[in-house]
Formats: sequence, C-alpha cells, structure tokens
Amino acid sequence: MPQRGRGAVVRRAGRARVATGAPRTPSATQAVNTWLYRSCGAFGPAGVHDRATNRPLTVPAGRDRLADGCLIRENRGTHEPLLTDFPTGTATTRTATVLRTADQDDAQGPGLTLTGTTAVNRPTRRPPPGYRRLMDISAVVWDIDDTIFDYGAADRAGMREHLAAEGLLDGYESVEQALARWREVTDQQWLRFSAGETDWEGQRRERVRVFLGQPLTDTEADDWFQRYVAYYEAAWALFPDVLPVLDALAASHRHAVLSNSSLHVQDRKLRVLGVHHRFEAVLCAAELGVSKPAAEAFHAACDALGLPPHQVAYVGDHPEIDGRGAAEAGLLSVWIDRDGAHTATAVASTGPHRIASLAELPAVLGADTRFGVPSTFG
Ligand SMILES: [Mg+2]
Repeated sequence: MPQRGRGAVVRRAGRARVATGAPRTPSATQAVNTWLYRSCGAFGPAGVHDRATNRPLTVPAGRDRLADGCLIRENRGTHEPLLTDFPTGTATTRTATVLRTADQDDAQGPGLTLTGTTAVNRPTRRPPPGYRRLMDISAVVWDIDDTIFDYGAADRAGMREHLAAEGLLDGYESVEQALARWREVTDQQWLRFSAGETDWEGQRRERVRVFLGQPLTDTEADDWFQRYVAYYEAAWALFPDVLPVLDALAASHRHAVLSNSSLHVQDRKLRVLGVHHRFEAVLCAAELGVSKPAAEAFHAACDALGLPPHQVAYVGDHPEIDGRGAAEAGLLSVWIDRDGAHTATAVASTGPHRIASLAELPAVLGADTRFGVPSTFG
C-alpha cells in the first residue's frame, strides 16, 4: 500500500538519488534516458522528472509507457496511441496517428510500435475515430451522485443542520468553511476507497475522525455519521432536468446505473427518489470489486445490458473518473459539467462530449425527441 506523507519522495535511479516531489510513494516507476516517470495508479498523481534539467512535470494520471521525451498509452476504446509530450515543459496529450481508410481492410491485428520517439499504430479492422453512428447508441448508463442526484446540495444542507445540532459550528469562522472542510475530507476518503485503500465502512469512519480530529471508536464514528445521515437524507432531491430527459429517452433507449458507491446505498437512494423502476440494472463498485475509471467497471455495465460498449453511452459528472474512463472503455462518453466546475481540466484529447444540462443529451445521442437541439456548449 502506498505510504502517504507531505515530504518529497526520494527514489534511486541507477546510482543517483532523485527527489521527485511526489506526495506519496509511487506504485510504478520507469526511466528512459534522462526522464524518470512515476505513477500512483489510476487516480494519480503521476509525474515526470527530467534529470538533465532537474525539472518536474505533472502528467495525466494512469500508467503510461515512458519513451524518450514522451509518454504513451493506448486508447482502449479506439485502440489509437495517445502521446503525452513534455520536452517543452508543458505536458500535452494528443492522438499520435490517424488510420487511413484503406488500412481498415488490412488483416493485421491491433497493436503499437515504438520507433525512436514516434509511435506508429499498426492498421486494424476497427473503424477510425468519429466513425461511430450515433443512432447506434441504444442504451444509456448513468452515474448517480452529482449527475442525476444533487448530492452536493443534499450534503451541504444535511451537514449544515447536523453541525448546528451537534454544536460544532462555533469551531469554524462560517458555515461555508465547515462545509468546505467536510467536503475536502469526503473527497480524500472517497479517493482512498476508490483506490482500494479502505473499505466502505472504513471511509465513512475516517471521514468522521479526520473531520473532528478525534480518535473515535468505530461505534462512536458510526453513531456520529448516522446522525448526519438523517439530516442528509431529508434533503435528497433529483436535479430538475432528470425526469424530463428520462421521459424523453424512455422509448428510444434502455437505461442502467453504474456508481462508484455501494448497492446498499444507491439502490435505496433511487427508490427514495422515485426513479428506481426506470433502470434495468444498478451496478456499484463496492459489489463489482472494480471502480470507475477502470474499463472493467464500464464493461460490466455493458454486459449487464447485453450490449457492446460502442452501443452504450455513459453520462457522468467527473471529467476523469466518468468522462475519460468511459471514453477509453469504448463507450460514447458524455460529461455533464453543470456549473463549469471542471472547466480548467484538460480532457478534450480523450473525447467525452461536454454538456451543461441533461436537456442537451438527446441531441448528443442523435435521438429524435422534443429536445432535438444540437449542443452548443464547449
Ligand atoms: Mg458523480
């Protein structure tokens, strides 16, 4: 298990000792020429250190293959090579090559060849990027929290009431400061759960212990969390654009759910929200044993529907976990960016469609509905 700490991590590269600046011990390292690459798994962080200039560089999370001056990975959906260049000091990810149409009939299998610092893809029978016929999308798989369920609003309203009832607001300058700290701790523990560093109960208890700064017993942490949950659940609500789009797509598309939470929580949530009957399948990471952005999670949802990935769209609010993960798994990826909260995050190279409202989804799917207006966002 990776060790966590604030100090720079020191790694040996040959006989040299290099300070990478990584916030925790990398799970994988590679060295080519003067470049040293470190990765902390699918959720990152990841970085490259140039020993020639002693210059660190942040690169996309994941486990890429290091070449001389670039990182390379395979887009698992299109089987195109994705290059992240960094000699200029700014990591830029791009598709390395595009297949010629004539190459589609070549009998060679998919693969990747490195020639010096240039990646060359061997021809495959797969269609080129953009070839997908949108009308072929026959099912939509949905994320829940912050996609159809207004988790952020319910969390803030529930915690505001809970902290007031517990008499804890005096320890903060404002309600907003307390809520921001709770959300920060929640995000940290969610990442640990998603990375397999703790279980479902463990992340809940650690959220309480870290937030309060107290070494509570499991029972004490559980009791505190359950008092919060009572206020949180009282504030549950769908986003206002959810029911209209589910109605619009009810006849044209099948629907399922894939969440990184647990079935125990999400199944009940969908029932309380009154939309459980709208979905053929509900899949959650805690029971699957694999979390988004891993392709296996998205493929499990496709398998539950009996459809190949290229006939399934995935709609989620997180640009990496949902947007990039679904695109690399070969689904039609739709990133719902309601408030432009992740505008600064670079995801364009991996191809998710960005929408600001679910009212734009039918147009992205090519569905013939009363919405029917192409997206103009992003
Ligand atoms: Mg979400």
